[in-house]
Amino acid sequence: MKIKLFHPPGYQRFHPLPPLGIATLTSILRQEGHFVDQQDLELACWAHNWHRENDTEEIDLKLLNDYDRVSEYLLRNHEDVELEKVVNILVQKITYKNFDLTGFSIMGFRQLPPALCLASRIKEETDTITLFGGDFTSSSCMRILEKFKFVDYALIGESWHTVCQLVEVLEKSQIPDERIIPGLCCRKNDEVVLSDTRPPQINTMPEPDYEGLPLEEYKNQLNALYKQEFDFLILQYVISHGCVKDCVFCGRPALRKWQLKLSQRIALKPLDKIVRELERLSRRHKTNCFCFVCTEINSSDSWTRRFADAIIDEKLDILWHAYAIPADLSSGTLEKLYDSGCRLLRFGLETGSSRLLKEMRKGFTADEAERVLRSSSNAGIWNHLNLIVGYPHERNSDIEKTVEFIQRNAEEIDSVRINPYILHRDSWIYSNPEKLGIKVVAKDRDLAFFDEIGGLKWRDKKKQTLDFIERLIQSFQKNDLGFGTSYDLIFCSSIYFPCKDEAKGWLRKTHPYLFRSYPFQVIRWKIYHPGEEMPFPSTWDYFVGRALGYFVEV
Ligand code: SF4
Repeated sequence: MKIKLFHPPGYQRFHPLPPLGIATLTSILRQEGHFVDQQDLELACWAHNWHRENDTEEIDLKLLNDYDRVSEYLLRNHEDVELEKVVNILVQKITYKNFDLTGFSIMGFRQLPPALCLASRIKEETDTITLFGGDFTSSSCMRILEKFKFVDYALIGESWHTVCQLVEVLEKSQIPDERIIPGLCCRKNDEVVLSDTRPPQINTMPEPDYEGLPLEEYKNQLNALYKQEFDFLILQYVISHGCVKDCVFCGRPALRKWQLKLSQRIALKPLDKIVRELERLSRRHKTNCFCFVCTEINSSDSWTRRFADAIIDEKLDILWHAYAIPADLSSGTLEKLYDSGCRLLRFGLETGSSRLLKEMRKGFTADEAERVLRSSSNAGIWNHLNLIVGYPHERNSDIEKTVEFIQRNAEEIDSVRINPYILHRDSWIYSNPEKLGIKVVAKDRDLAFFDEIGGLKWRDKKKQTLDFIERLIQSFQKNDLGFGTSYDLIFCSSIYFPCKDEAKGWLRKTHPYLFRSYPFQVIRWKIYHPGEEMPFPSTWDYFVGRALGYFVEV
């Protein structure tokens, strides 16, 4: 079969990294003998707008990402001249004829509208089979197929086996049956039906195949956005699926579903597979920079130590960054991680209050986190902290504990990010609000409010959250801490400059907004859209209580 795979554009930020989703599907489909052409439209759109001469039309990504307007346009005979014009420019950027199947990898809500526009146009002109996959599709596949008839199939969960089975059936001109293809959403007698997902099968996950993507272009994009001739090609690589913890506020819908079918909470790739594939990717694409995809690199201290040893023993000579839990990491393991190329760990600390850590079921104490940060910093690793502010029933004494934590460990913390608490619809809290003492009072695509039972009503809760954010910002500024938001930017500066102080000096000079009290969405905008008017206010007030698309209903 001849297959075309697209990574559709988002809007608010651009990842200067080749997309993992289409590279993974490309890999398995090519192994099965199919012809696959993959295209990163986010990169193409960014390059078009970035290098655009005055007389060239811009690709209006804001318009293209407006779901309600795109929906109207598609469901009402394309009567939107402005949008039609943008879609026409986009269509000129792609090759789409003479393929049997066209697939779109949709990781977030914002990629959905452009994918729909293109799928509709391609269907109209070529009558190819259209297929949607990716994280966002997994959670909304039924509604997508019900609403948009030009989407033929959707994939749920880990989709590499599903896509192969689907293509095999289509090749034989048979009708795909959800009862025999796990992870498939399709139409049957005009009804949309869904099969069971399959448990994660990380042992057989194909190594991403980036061949055919314009890899040099990612370096150019990275240099342009980060304002330095870094010339790094960073490749994403999956280490594990799932998480050893079960924090009550965390929403990982697909993973939770899969976890029900697993005896263990996390599925780790075998170490020999990791080492073999990293070596091959590094050699094939002439890069030693990796962003590891996992909820945490340290599912246990012993596995992490073996992981570092395997990289060191094989002399991979790579540099990498990943998420980590600030617990279960001995100083010896952290030293080994540094030796294996770890330069940045992104820790989900959330709060310095042990009371709240317990409520959140984070599974570690503030003292434990403190020990890990110290050892990590001693090992030479850049420590980034993520903090949640505005958690249900968070008190003054809790935020003061976080401020004290920051002051006590300022030398060991290199960057921080404040995340106003979001009530995630796939979290345990959302299903059990009364157990955490809250009452959900409003939720829609972009808003999620709650009252604390026996505590603050939303209006006062929001005010308290804003006060707490202000309190934290004062503490960051007192300790000269920058706000990390683009991990790849931090990673690049941490490996380009010989020492942390130099990297921080360069970040302060070149990206000064990282050191101002902006919400991370504003900082992102400033990195990815320099000089462009911001489509939202730059104040924290706007972002507290905003669900950021977590309540999206297609
Ligand atoms: S917040 Fe992090 S550590 Fe907790 S369950 Fe979610 S991914 Fe795991």
